[in-house]
Amino acid sequence: MLPLACSARLGSSSRFVILPSKVLSHQLQSACHLRRTVFLSSTPLRAVFYFHVARNPAPSRPKTAMAKRDEPSHPEDQHPSTKRAKEVDAHTPYEELTSLLSDQPGSKDVHRVLHWFRSKDLRIQDNRALHAASELAKKSDAPLICAYLNCPAEFRWHGTSPARTDFICENLALMQKELHELDIPLAFLEANERNDIVPTIAKFVRENDISHVFANYEYEVDELTRDVKFVKEIGSDAQFSLHHDQTIIQPGTMVTGNNKPMKVFTPYHKSWLAEVKSDPSLLDTVPSPSKNPTSAKKELKPHFESSGPKPPKDKQFASKEEKDRIRQLWPAGHSAAISRLNDFLSDKIEDYAATRSNPAKDSTSRLSAYLSAGVLSIRETLSAVSNKANSKSTDFSQDGPSAGVASWVRELVFRELYRQTTLTTPHTAMNMPQNLKFDFVQWEDDEEGYQRWEEGTLGVPFVDAGMRQIKHEAYMHNRLRMNVSSYLYCNLLINYRRGERYFAETLIDWDLNNNTQGWEPSYTVFNPVSQAERNDPEGDYIRKWVPELKDVQGKAIFDPYNRLTSEEFDKLGYPKPFVDWKDTKQRAIERFKNDMQGVEP
Ligand SMILES: Cc1cc2nc3c(=O)[nH]c(=O)nc-3n(C[C@H](O)[C@H](O)[C@H](O)COP(=O)(O)OP(=O)(O)OC[C@H]3O[C@@H](n4cnc5c(N)ncnc54)[C@H](O)[C@@H]3O)c2cc1C
Repeated sequence: MLPLACSARLGSSSRFVILPSKVLSHQLQSACHLRRTVFLSSTPLRAVFYFHVARNPAPSRPKTAMAKRDEPSHPEDQHPSTKRAKEVDAHTPYEELTSLLSDQPGSKDVHRVLHWFRSKDLRIQDNRALHAASELAKKSDAPLICAYLNCPAEFRWHGTSPARTDFICENLALMQKELHELDIPLAFLEANERNDIVPTIAKFVRENDISHVFANYEYEVDELTRDVKFVKEIGSDAQFSLHHDQTIIQPGTMVTGNNKPMKVFTPYHKSWLAEVKSDPSLLDTVPSPSKNPTSAKKELKPHFESSGPKPPKDKQFASKEEKDRIRQLWPAGHSAAISRLNDFLSDKIEDYAATRSNPAKDSTSRLSAYLSAGVLSIRETLSAVSNKANSKSTDFSQDGPSAGVASWVRELVFRELYRQTTLTTPHTAMNMPQNLKFDFVQWEDDEEGYQRWEEGTLGVPFVDAGMRQIKHEAYMHNRLRMNVSSYLYCNLLINYRRGERYFAETLIDWDLNNNTQGWEPSYTVFNPVSQAERNDPEGDYIRKWVPELKDVQGKAIFDPYNRLTSEEFDKLGYPKPFVDWKDTKQRAIERFKNDMQGVEP
């Protein structure tokens, strides 16, 4: 029994207990199903805490490997236990998949060849698996068919935003046209539920006499598990080949001296630069697929008539104005991506190192939507960088030809590392922090704080500006992503998973690997006032997104409540800070320390 110092019933729904700090352990918290912890006072040895104990305990955590996201009102609350997370890390779905792939029966006669597009390789240019499929079809004089399986439940599961859903649909429509010009059909399949995905694809394969299926790897747990199911389901009816297409260096292959996958950025970056410098062929691109035999048009006629998916009802834009605005900001298609890349290389990359953190300069590439949906390949991107901005060199280090290039490529290397992390630490794709100790933190249930965060009305100009940008553009500058996330889980002490989910539901460039790692909780508490002073020195970004402050002069823009007279402040119609930054920073550090001390995930 746990030594409760005092316990009393209050009303019908709650109970308060007073505990010495020593028993503030995760085990106790789980046992009591604590919903809210209010810190009252503390002394070095005996801290006193009040806990609000829910009468109806939170549902116990599912035992099975749950991947990120479901559809309940707080999908971010769903995740496996830390024990289960560690089990999945020890026996990864990737290991199972690669073993199943290598155990497939040997060579098979080629009848028809399928490339199965997923939402991360939406292009026909420099697409590794598509190219391999095309080569096999050409060699065997067999037709190539392409397919995309639309699953509305999948969008809901991941919380995919209307902007990203629309972007995917628009890119598919453009790809279909490009493929038709090559006499290659793009068949659109439909699965209502996630469990229907594998049977639907398998049925298509069997009904169409397809002997070989190609696709590119997706590294998230659910997607790997889906592929495991597919190999098992299809058995010897077709041969399944998966290709690594998302990165320059294959995830999982960059290892330490002890043969363990690298996890830390600096050594990973160093090794990545050395590999790419010494082997420029890593940037080689592959051609678009070859034209199908002329008979394909007739033979595969129904597939040429397939019409592409439309965003489901719950994933539509709120208004036509919003749709037009987002489509103008993020035009679909490979050629739009290439022209954006070229503009960035000719106008911005040289100054990237100096300007990248200043959101008012808007000096970053804004290519994330294209890279995350695979509209643009990483090899094509880096070949263009090398040829147009780096004197044809693949030395992307600080010693290479361009400091701007070195700084930009460094960001792409983060993207590469994060794919390796997802693959080798799969629990990070299961709604669990990489540092499992953070799963033991008791978060606040602060609905008003959350709403103000989401609306950008916290009274903290830099944070509010970022939150208003994401709402308007389905995008947020990286510096702001860092600040708003820190503010949510440190200063408001709200479960970081809720913000992570909101980003998925709002961003056009949502990418599980980058988003999960971006939201990885840490002890670093960003100061939004000094961050704004350093990165938005003229206050232009704040003025753009927070019009209430557009006439505020000088440094008052960064902290109007404390830097203006109360009369001046009252006239602005802007809220005063919802919480005190200093106090809440202290509260967060103490909470993290107390809740994680001595825990063993
Ligand atoms: C809390 C948080 C959440 C994030 N969520 C996402 C997300 O869902 N999708 C996403 O693509 N990025 C995410 N990022 C990373 C980064 O903010 C965006 O990639 C970047 O702002 C996109 O703008 P850009 O294309 O102009 O980037 P640029 O500065 O031009 O960088 C070029 C490319 O490098 C990659 N990149 C840049 N910064 C990072 C980074 N920190 N980590 C990994 N890759 C990076 C992106 O692919 C980007 O397009 C997140 C960062 C944080 C802190």
